[in-house]
Amino acid sequence: MSQAVEFLIIGGGPGGTPTALALASAGKSVMLVEKGPGLGGTCLFEGCIPSKIFRETARRFRELKEARQFGLCLPTQDVTLNWSDVLQRKRLILQKRSEAALHKTARHTTLTTVFGHCRLLGSNTAVIKNETEEINVHFEKAIISTGSVPFIPSIRGCDHPRVYDSESILNIDHIPPQLVIVGGGPIGVELGQIFNTFGSKVSLLERSSRILGSVDEELANRLQQKMSDDGIEIFTDAQVKAIIHSGQSVFVNFDNAQGEQQHIITAAVLMVTGRRPNVEGLGLENTAVQYSHHGINVNETLETTQAGIYAVGDVTGQPMFAHWATAQGLALARQLAGKKTAFAAAETNTAVIFSEPEIGIAGLTEQQAKQAGIHFQVARYEFKQDARAQITGHTDGLLKIIFDINSHRVIGVHIMVEGAAELMGEAALLIKTAIPIEALAAAIHPHPTLTESFVMAVRSVMSQRSR
Ligand SMILES: Cc1cc2nc3c(=O)[nH]c(=O)nc-3n(C[C@H](O)[C@H](O)[C@H](O)COP(=O)(O)OP(=O)(O)OC[C@H]3O[C@@H](n4cnc5c(N)ncnc54)[C@H](O)[C@@H]3O)c2cc1C
Repeated sequence: MSQAVEFLIIGGGPGGTPTALALASAGKSVMLVEKGPGLGGTCLFEGCIPSKIFRETARRFRELKEARQFGLCLPTQDVTLNWSDVLQRKRLILQKRSEAALHKTARHTTLTTVFGHCRLLGSNTAVIKNETEEINVHFEKAIISTGSVPFIPSIRGCDHPRVYDSESILNIDHIPPQLVIVGGGPIGVELGQIFNTFGSKVSLLERSSRILGSVDEELANRLQQKMSDDGIEIFTDAQVKAIIHSGQSVFVNFDNAQGEQQHIITAAVLMVTGRRPNVEGLGLENTAVQYSHHGINVNETLETTQAGIYAVGDVTGQPMFAHWATAQGLALARQLAGKKTAFAAAETNTAVIFSEPEIGIAGLTEQQAKQAGIHFQVARYEFKQDARAQITGHTDGLLKIIFDINSHRVIGVHIMVEGAAELMGEAALLIKTAIPIEALAAAIHPHPTLTESFVMAVRSVMSQRSR
């Protein structure tokens, strides 16, 4: 069978699916191809959503244990976890969201969704194969949104069934008594805290001198301390050498910060050592598309080195976030539909690490602002003095607003507090609109909410500056 379309979109994750919908809404003929079980990509099936479903159970688990603090007497102090119910809840949410995405695409008459593996055969042709059919596609333009896959370094013993990656751990059928996590990035930190709350003895090994290398150093250090206080054993400057399996035990051998050989005995290992662009089997060798292990090379309008072939999302490299993939895809769809488009700059991206407490990031860190030669000042606010934080009992936190001293415009927002995730919409607007701190201070923020922290932080520097 063969078919001709204006746009072929390869990959139905947060990059590909919204792009397909936007192009179809503009009246274009679009084919969206997905090789997985449904639409949603890594985000839905192996990433954002399942990990946050686990996190929500962990949060409620902790809250129940802390109920007495809030004047609540539970009939029993023994809160237990029914893991199979957690997995079932996850399955149902994923299924519902995937079906909803498919219904959305089905509403567009010019959009065809095909399940199967897509391989480019040339600059205008591709083949899609699934168990029942083979479709040859002729396209005018293609958008690659094939995402990323876990990167596992070649360490001896990584291929054992009790060594998990970020995908397989989300389907683990039990809570391991011990869990060694290799990698102290966002995924390692989030899952480390979740499994620690569920009762695993968690050890985290990080190759660098601190966890969360891309996060403001002060916030990352505070979180590291909190994780240690909660019983997570953290080794920084740790080089994993081998994973050895012996009977029911797994030995993780590593060189510690002092260069000494050390080992941890564990029941399970989670390797979260980064992600790589997913280009395997895509047929890029049949085109002029160039890529490296960082991602497919694209220009500022997301066109690859092959004219007419574009790429969005994780497959283009960092930053690797669902909302970033969607933002790129929607901007590209606008441009391809002939509308005036402003492509987002990575410096205006926002992100949340769903640690406990949450960390929100928008715009530049102090270090990045320094490197960019910007003359800046930092407005700070400690959440221990915050009304809302005192009410919820989550007073551990700090807000830093970075602003340009000359223009007074906000260029970075960095927050660590439980609830930070919900503050990031405001942070994103502050950065995007480059609002001056005086305008921020003049906006009435409701009391008692965590949003007041923005005003409190900038007011404190404004009063110092007016003295
Ligand atoms: C554990 C974990 C937690 C995360 N948490 C968050 C979070 O909280 N917030 C956040 O913003 N991001 C989070 N992320 C990152 C987020 O999942 C990704 O950034 C996002 O999914 C990228 O979207 P994408 O569309 O580029 O790629 P993907 O979501 O990976 O989608 C790519 C799709 O392409 C399909 N595909 C690949 N090759 C082919 C082919 N040849 N033919 C047909 N189809 C193909 C794949 O099956 C996949 O469905 C998390 C990731 C992980 C692993």
